[in-house]
Amino acid sequence: MSRRPLIAGNWKMNGLKADGIALADGVAAKRRAEPDLACDVLVCPPFLLVSDVARAVAGSGLAVGGQDCHAKTSGAHTGDTSPVMLKDAGCSHVILGHSERRTDHGETDAEVKAKAAAAHAAGLVAIVCIGETLAQRDGGETLEVNRRQLKGSLPEGANADNTVIAYEPVWAIGTGRVASPEQAQEVHAAIRAELVKLVGETEAGKMRILYGGSMKPENAAQLIALPDVDGGLIGGASLKVEDFWAIARNC
Ligand code: PGA
Repeated sequence: MSRRPLIAGNWKMNGLKADGIALADGVAAKRRAEPDLACDVLVCPPFLLVSDVARAVAGSGLAVGGQDCHAKTSGAHTGDTSPVMLKDAGCSHVILGHSERRTDHGETDAEVKAKAAAAHAAGLVAIVCIGETLAQRDGGETLEVNRRQLKGSLPEGANADNTVIAYEPVWAIGTGRVASPEQAQEVHAAIRAELVKLVGETEAGKMRILYGGSMKPENAAQLIALPDVDGGLIGGASLKVEDFWAIARNC
């Protein structure tokens, strides 16, 4: 089954307006210069920059995503952003259940599932993040934790067109400590096997599973080449045009 890789930049809470537009312009210029690139490329700026970034990359072939959304489309939810608003601002994707949201905001699998369902209803692709902590890995619970999060976070109707999975071992995020190819492939294969049970063999075979956690130009090629790794969710290295593009060129 050949799956077109996705390289997604998660800018997190970084960059003021001028920085975000410069970064978006830089990545869009790279994308325009390489129309035959063998992967899809997505940038996920902070909410306040989404509209400006969407304008900056319009027509380049780059996709834009949010980093979270509410499970409702509108209403009395001070400080929140709905998936319909993201779509309206130019997003096609939204990252959900990132470990930083699970930790900083106590997001549960059930909440991630509700958000993913709302994202689907709004016409967004949900990038559902899962991953074990170091203590869970050391405790031999890695596969069980990832299966449980996957099962708990995927909504009814999830398919390969509306959902991407991101496996991000918490101990590898922002630490410079990347999963080895063996570690990544083991978990990705287990995720795909679980997806067969959850969404059926055909969709599981087509659904993209990204690796995230200290992916850099130096280690991207061997990770992306793994049989069940279909691209990357990139934090730190997505903030530099050259580094991000060097990763995309590995596809
Ligand atoms: P990192 O972040 O590449 O900086 O480790 C990845 C992520 O959290 O999505």
